[in-house]
Amino acid sequence: MSKKKVIILGCGGFVGSHLTDRMLASGKYQIEGWDVSYDKISQHLGNDDLTFHQQYVDAATTYSELEPVIAECDAVFSLAAVCTPAQYVASPVKTIQSNFIDAYKLIDFCAEHRKWLIHTSTCEVYGRTLSSYVPEDNYDNLDLYEQREDETPLVMGPTTNHRWSYATAKALFERYIFAHNAENGMPFTIIRPYNWFGARMDFIPGRDGDGIPRVLACFMTALLDGKPMQLVDGGEAYRTITYIDDAVDALMLMLEKPKGSKNQVFNVGNRGGEVTMRELALLMRETAAEITGRDEFLEHPIEEISGEKFYGEGYEDCDRRVPDVKKAESRLDWKAKTSLRETLRITMKYYFDNYGRASGINTQG
Ligand code: NAD
Ligand code: UDP
Repeated sequence: MSKKKVIILGCGGFVGSHLTDRMLASGKYQIEGWDVSYDKISQHLGNDDLTFHQQYVDAATTYSELEPVIAECDAVFSLAAVCTPAQYVASPVKTIQSNFIDAYKLIDFCAEHRKWLIHTSTCEVYGRTLSSYVPEDNYDNLDLYEQREDETPLVMGPTTNHRWSYATAKALFERYIFAHNAENGMPFTIIRPYNWFGARMDFIPGRDGDGIPRVLACFMTALLDGKPMQLVDGGEAYRTITYIDDAVDALMLMLEKPKGSKNQVFNVGNRGGEVTMRELALLMRETAAEITGRDEFLEHPIEEISGEKFYGEGYEDCDRRVPDVKKAESRLDWKAKTSLRETLRITMKYYFDNYGRASGINTQG
């Protein structure tokens, strides 16, 4: 059987590198990968099933380099994006360019060649929950906060808050996909990830990157450096944490079950992995103690900080994200399998093994 040809834009990122690992291991795919960086996939660069293009993808390069490859492929995964909240606030222009302007031509080309576009959007397109605007701010009514792909309205804060630059650009990208599907029959699958966690997520500031990464790497940096874990606005926001291998299972099932996945939007999240950020910090302290054998992590300092001080003016948070995952269950036979504790154990072991030794921190087992 001949191998399927799949394009992965953003193959060198956190999700892209895990997807590349999995596809190459299956032996069923030939990948044409684009990214500006390749550290996370360097072990695959000699693999005949991967052609890597170290190139920035934007509307201009899309014309010349990508289009002929799109014309011959079976599916395109679009993962390349600016996607850390600190950047939405500090660099909203770059965020909007990356998540829409640099990328919309990709949709035009997929439409022109009738190619299947599999796009990672975000659960952040739902914005805040309706519950958060109800007096008393309670979550008694599931209908006011559970997020259903084809029903839940998008409730973003005011346009003056840069936080929503990312979600707005992602939502417009989704709309443009729907528009091309309706007018030109372009096949698509849209994925809304819910805080996927795992090895190789982001960077550790001062070691292999600069700036503010997502919460996992922020808390890990604090644990590695002996600095306080910082709870933004009291750490009351909820997130549902999903293990990357479970998420990649979903992406692979989408590719393998086109009848179930084409022309659909899917929440990909782990309802059982829900925590507040305060609970996450406490669990990460416990997990750090468990995997290093150092009880002092149980008392690791935690402090509170305002969103404005941590991220800058224009930060606003999503209060809660609970995915309805019935569609992924029924159409793909997918369900998250990995518990939050196990996700943290595997992921934090990776970070301690890769960054801890320089600070004299070793893991057990
Ligand atoms: P990431 O930052 O680790 O990876 C993105 C990759 O894209 C990076 O390697 C970056 O170099 C590359 N890239 C960005 N712009 C590019 C361009 N113009 N040309 C070439 N390469 C470019 O992010 P990730 O966590 O792997 O996320 C992948 C996708 O999933 C993104 O679209 C993101 O919005 C979405 N997503 C992820 C999560 C999550 O939990 N990880 C949550 C919501 C949405
Ligand atoms: N957060 C925090 N401390 C940090 C970093 C983030 O309390 O050091 C909070 C942030 O305010 C948000 C949650 O953690 O409520 C998740 O943030 P993340 O950057 O992972 O991205 P998001 O889920 O908002 O896209």
